[in-house]
Amino acid sequence: MDAVKRMTLWLSCVYPAPFPVRVRWTKDCSPEHLGECVPRPDKGYFDIRLRPGLGFEIAIETLIHEWAHARTLPGRVEGEHAHSPRFWLDVGEIQRGWEERGCVVAKRIWLPR
Ligand SMILES: [Zn+2]
Repeated sequence: MDAVKRMTLWLSCVYPAPFPVRVRWTKDCSPEHLGECVPRPDKGYFDIRLRPGLGFEIAIETLIHEWAHARTLPGRVEGEHAHSPRFWLDVGEIQRGWEERGCVVAKRIWLPR
């Protein structure tokens, strides 16, 4: 199991999203982004796409950012920006948890691509 799969498992347990989240490396990601979170209501899950070739720290930072989107997009009220204060509070909460415990989980099994 690679670090991103392991971290996805950790995020699912500690910071669950209201819908299942699929995380994958893919070039099928808009060119100006390192990653993106795409709701797939037709499939009943969120699709998080990470650009291949990201280094460990950037990949983790990107995954946390996109994971917070998966957690906060479903509760978004009309007119609320995707990067709302509620979103950034969630990013901060996940980052704190990551620095306290999660990084040990993922770094131990990270293998350079
Ligand atoms: Zn974003």
